[in-house]
Parts: sequence; C-alpha cells; structure tokens
Amino acid sequence: MSGTERSHFELHGEEPTCSTGGVWLSCIACGEQFPPFETVRYVCDDCDGLLEVRYADLPTWNDFEGRGVWRYDAALPFESGVSLPEGATPLHDVPRLKSSIGVGRLRVKHEGMNPTGSFKDRGMTVGVRVAEQMGVERLACASTGNTSAALSAYGSRAGLETLVLLPQGKVAAGKIAQASCHGARILEVDGNFDTCLDIVGDLADRGDVYLLNSLNPFRLEGQKTIGLEILEQFRDEEGSYPDRIVLPVGNAGNTAALYKCFRELVASGALESSDVPKLTGVQAEGAAPMVEAIEENRAETRRWESVETSATAIRIGNPVNAPKALPGIRETGGTAAAVADEEIQAAQQELAREGVGVEPASAASIAGLRTLREEGVVTEDEEVVCLTTGHLLKDPDAAVEAGTEPETVPGTTPGVRDHLGLE
Ligand SMILES: *Cc1c(COP(=O)(O)O)cnc(C)c1O
Ligand SMILES: [Zn+2]
Repeated sequence: MSGTERSHFELHGEEPTCSTGGVWLSCIACGEQFPPFETVRYVCDDCDGLLEVRYADLPTWNDFEGRGVWRYDAALPFESGVSLPEGATPLHDVPRLKSSIGVGRLRVKHEGMNPTGSFKDRGMTVGVRVAEQMGVERLACASTGNTSAALSAYGSRAGLETLVLLPQGKVAAGKIAQASCHGARILEVDGNFDTCLDIVGDLADRGDVYLLNSLNPFRLEGQKTIGLEILEQFRDEEGSYPDRIVLPVGNAGNTAALYKCFRELVASGALESSDVPKLTGVQAEGAAPMVEAIEENRAETRRWESVETSATAIRIGNPVNAPKALPGIRETGGTAAAVADEEIQAAQQELAREGVGVEPASAASIAGLRTLREEGVVTEDEEVVCLTTGHLLKDPDAAVEAGTEPETVPGTTPGVRDHLGLE
C-alpha cells in the first residue's frame, strides 16, 4: 500500500470558506474544493476528477434517531427530503445458505424492500432534495432500469419532470413498467448503458437536465446509509460488526458509498479502523472491469466496449465510480470476484428457497461469496453480510426462468389428485 493510498482513508482538510452550512464538495483527485449548491457541477472544474461531499461535523451513533434514510440526517446535507419512505430494510437470516457456503455468520441486507424495490431510492431521496435546492426543473438519468424506476417515482413525487435513457431491449420488464407508470419520459437508446450515460452526461453538461446518476456525489450520500444501517443492525443483533460486506458492482456507486460511510465513522471516532468491514465486490464474468482492475492492481478500470450478462442491472463496462471504489476495496482489505450467469441463477434460486426474493444482479453477492469461500479467500469463521440490491419482481422473466415449471392439470379434484399421484 503506498502512502498516498493510505491517506485516502483519512478525511482531512479544514472547512473551506466555500462551504455552506458546513457542507462542501472536494475533488478526490486534486483536492480542489467547491461550494455545494451554488452552481451545478458533477466533476472537478480543474481536473475532471470525481467529487465527494464533505462535512465540517461528522456524527457518531448517538446522533441518529428515527427510522430509515433520514434517521441519519446528521450524516447528510439536509434534515429531510421527498420521502416515500425509504431504508430500514430487513437484515435476513439465511441459515441453510450459511451452512452450505460455510461461514461463521451470514446475513442478507435486502435492499429490494425499498419503496420502488431497489437501493436506488436511498440515493434519490437525497438527490431529489438537492435538485430542489438547486432549483432545477428537469431530472434525468441513464439506467439499467432501477435508477429510472426510482428517479421516476421520486421526481414525480417532487413535481419535477423526469427523463430516463435506457439501453433498448436490455431492461427488465418490471423496471420499465415502474418508470413509465410513475410518469417518466422514457427514451430507449440504440446502445448499451455506457452509451446512455455518455449522452445524458452531455445533456447535463449543456444544462439541459440535472443528472441523477451515481456520478452525482449527493446520491452516494443517501446510499451511504446502507452501511450505517448494516453496522447498527448487525451490532445490535450479533454483538459485533461484520468482518466483510459482499455486494454486486455495476457503476460501483454503492462500493464507493460504503467506503465513505466507513471513513466518516472512523474520522468521528464511532468506528475503530480495525472494525471496518472488508469491502468485497462481485461482477458478472461478462461485465467485470472492476475485477480486472483489482486483479491487475490498476488504479483505474479499462472500459469494456462489449458487455453481456443476464444480470442486466450490472451489465456495465465503464464503472464511473471506480476511482472512489477501487481504493475502498483495497484499503479495507477486501477483494473482487467474477461469477458466471449460471452461478448467479443458482444463487437466486437458493435465496428464493429461503424466502428472500431478489433479482439476478443481487444474487451475484451470494454467488461471489460462495466462490471466494471455495477459493479460501473467505474463511470459515468469517461474519459476512451480503447485500441484495433489488427485488425478485423487478425481472419477472428471469424469475420464471429460475423457478419451477407450472404443470397443466384438469379442472377437477380427482384429476388433480390423480396428477399428484394421490390414492
Ligand atoms: C444499480 C444496481 C446495482 C449496481 O450498483 P452500483 O452502485 O452501480 O455498483 C446492482 N444491483 C442492482 C439491482 C441495481 O439496481
Ligand atoms: Zn480536481
């Protein structure tokens, strides 16, 4: 680990004069600081580096009260926002999976239980609040589906116009249904997710729209609350903090958000650096630029022009938050793994048999944990939380494919009994 990488873990710097109410933006590459709400910016004016939100005061556990994302307002730029409400998701026990994988403890944080069925709601409640602050009228995102569902719901609720760009033919049915019913204008782009993001990024640069992809640093503030909730729930129910958090990776926004959560808790004294969970990212083999960068020990990802996986939510070849997420994986002692679509489907079935219904991308976390356990990277005594990011019903076609075949029977009781082989 080099000296510069280690210093990344610490949050340093005095409150600059450009801060508003103790909040400012800081470039992760060159350290330049910017006022948070004066003008819209997504990257550094000087070097195009990613921005992160900084605070003059960082909270500890006693500063939190209430339920859901806004329980953590002391760690957020505002005290409230358009809320449906989101967060406070279950931390499931999965005893059969725990023994079949073979770890000390295994809990599943099911983010599919958010209002629109994915963790994106946590980011949107904060992102849309910021949009209101900036006085913008039109919100937009590129999406593999779930961001569009969340933006459509939260944007409409706030009375704002919403525009979503989706890769044509590559978005699960439930997600399009949501975006459309909640009122977004949907543009189906002839290209993949990364193309959609390029285009919406151009529109945002021209001031045509306010961008609510995870490039927007405020969205990650909302998603940071996943980490706060996991640590509190696990500590209260298991008596310790988890050793490892395993999560699916697309644009690596969540990986970046969890890392920021840990850094802030360590800086405020709420968490010992030795208690920081190992961040472990999982991608599908057909879309694994983060895994490649970790394996080849590179500071940046290489853009994969062509990506393919049935886990459409993580079908991404150019993870925009990689410069924030790669140090997070490395500094916490975590790693990254790639899994085959068949392994994802098997994990989706296993979770579903324990009553936890998740979409394919979410099941990648379980599939990745199994792989890493088999390789001996994860040890048998580890206490692990797997993040499942979206609900089973998001992708009904995948669910039907992973499930049992319906059997055709006659419309009579004797006919049904006969079919079942009952005497
Ligand atoms: C958005 C999404 C992901 C990817 O999350 P990132 O923060 O972009 O890495 C994974 N799973 C589901 C279900 C998603 O909607
Ligand atoms: Zn910069």
